[in-house]
Amino acid sequence: MPMTTPFCHYGEPTYLKTSWNDANPRRRFYGCSRYGSNGACNYFRWLDPTLDERMRNVVLNFHRRIRELEKRQNMKVSKFDRKMVSVIILGAIVFSLFWTGK
Ligand SMILES: [Zn+2]
Repeated sequence: MPMTTPFCHYGEPTYLKTSWNDANPRRRFYGCSRYGSNGACNYFRWLDPTLDERMRNVVLNFHRRIRELEKRQNMKVSKFDRKMVSVIILGAIVFSLFWTGK
């Protein structure tokens, strides 16, 4: 495990990133800081060791559960938002009726 940030093939400091694919969930690696743009080199180096299959499944299951919880949380928020919008629209209608009624 390197103690300092390695340099890529261009001699630039690399970026520490985290893989989230099923083969290597939550596994950190160093990559070229220009990754995804023109002129990126192909520097690549794992920081974390390979997970055995059992640990990989544990990490994947945790990740899946977190996503499910986040999805549920977002649904609750959007239901609340819809209610708020309804209340605001209703309030605006009542207010405009009252205002024009005078
Ligand atoms: Zn590079």
